[in-house]
Amino acid sequence: MPRPTSPAPVLIWFRQDLRLADNPALAAAGDRPVLPVFVRDEAAAGRWAPGGAARWWLHHSLAALAAALRAKGAGLHLARGRAEDVLPALARAVGADAVLANRLCAPWAREQERRVATALAGQGVRLVLHELPLLHDPEALRAGSGRAYEAFTPFARAVRPRLEHLAPPLPAPARLRAADGAPAGEALESWRLTPRPPDWAAAFPALWQPGEAGAEARLARFLSAGRLHGYAAARDRPSEADGTSGLSPHLHWGEISPRRVWHAVRAAAEEGDRAAAEPFLRELLWREFCHHLLWHRPELPERPLRAAFAGFPWAPDARLLRAWQRGETGFPIVDAGMRQLWRHGWMHNRVRMIAASVLVKHLLQPWHDGAAWFWDTLVDADLANNSANWQWVAGCGADAAPYFRIFNPVRQGERFDPEGRYVRRFVPELARLPDRFLHRPWEAPEAVRRAAGVVLGRDYPRPLVDPAAGRARALAAFAAMRRRP
Ligand code: FAD
Repeated sequence: MPRPTSPAPVLIWFRQDLRLADNPALAAAGDRPVLPVFVRDEAAAGRWAPGGAARWWLHHSLAALAAALRAKGAGLHLARGRAEDVLPALARAVGADAVLANRLCAPWAREQERRVATALAGQGVRLVLHELPLLHDPEALRAGSGRAYEAFTPFARAVRPRLEHLAPPLPAPARLRAADGAPAGEALESWRLTPRPPDWAAAFPALWQPGEAGAEARLARFLSAGRLHGYAAARDRPSEADGTSGLSPHLHWGEISPRRVWHAVRAAAEEGDRAAAEPFLRELLWREFCHHLLWHRPELPERPLRAAFAGFPWAPDARLLRAWQRGETGFPIVDAGMRQLWRHGWMHNRVRMIAASVLVKHLLQPWHDGAAWFWDTLVDADLANNSANWQWVAGCGADAAPYFRIFNPVRQGERFDPEGRYVRRFVPELARLPDRFLHRPWEAPEAVRRAAGVVLGRDYPRPLVDPAAGRARALAAFAAMRRRP
């Protein structure tokens, strides 16, 4: 009898799925020899290549993935260049007959998949694409009209029941068999993804542990000590350091799958009150909604979904944008958020909404400029979530609420940071102001400010705009937009 020929090797093309567990492409390799590959293809990503904070994350995440793969028996090959050049060459080198990968939603990544498939087909190698990093396939979920859902509530109502029978996560492979013949890859250090001095990421390592183990640890921490049950109350309090899960960068890089998080959260809630999981699961549905939107409306990062906004009279002003970026707007809750963003690479969701609203409404700066700053400074910068949320705040995106719902930064601060713990932490120059004036220092009597050591314009800026005047100007701009033919 002829000896059975051993199966041909496959390439595992890692992208934003930097994990071993519940990784459909990796699981599909079975016991075939594998060459795991990560391609840094900045030409394909263009302006959506990772920003500064995300590059810091990627460096550490790749190091963690490489170590985890090595421990299983197959190292991670790193290469720079066009994926449609790199992958066929590697497939040839190891004699692979297929490249296995998980899909992505970003338009540039879908283009990249098409080019890679064509290049591989030219040499008789298949590109096998597995599912998107989502709970539900966007192609199988559309509104009655046949179009994508463009408001969250009906979307959530449609998708939630379908997730009752969500498939369980796949296990990580027990062992991997390395393919022979791979050329040497590049050294991660040579990619210089971490900052050159000055090290603006100095605070990151104490806050974040990129990689699959870090993601699992973060999930376990969130599910311990009643945090899941306290989530609905704590999630809107930016001073609660552990009020939310902190899973966003791990989800963005695919160090943990949303399916794994979904099942773990439900299982944790089963032990007590099942309904306690719902407020958190709803946030996972927001992620889902943003990604479905990007899938169906690929123009999302570039153009307003509401066509009328193409004529919105933005008033770009580099001085105002810079003050906002530096956390010097004179609105304490906004400045605290922008400084948290710079220091931690992350900002609390409630404060993201307030800071973004002040930029686009009170200051009339284009939402693209805010989104670009977030893209560069967030460790969780994500094309779907960032674009959809900026459009939502600007009023030009997928939202049932009218444009003129304008957040008041003073009242939002007083409501969600009533004791001022968040503001005092990130804006220490205001720490000695009494609670009553903390979110409106310009209204404090001169003597109160002096006693607190605050001279406006010297220790802390006056607000860039009077809140009522800023609101009125935003409403006038909106009215002007509507009058345009
Ligand atoms: P949790 O409260 O623990 O929520 C769990 C998960 O649900 C999050 O990790 C995230 O994946 C998802 N989620 C929660 N809120 C939202 C939301 N509003 N939209 C979409 N998904 C959500 N999130 C990003 O991941 N990347 C971004 O680039 C991003 N940009 C944003 C820009 C603006 C202007 C705003 C208002 C929000 C943005 N968000 C973004 C959404 C949200 O602020 C973060 O996902 C959240 O703060 C992450 O913290 P967490 O993991 O502790 O959240």
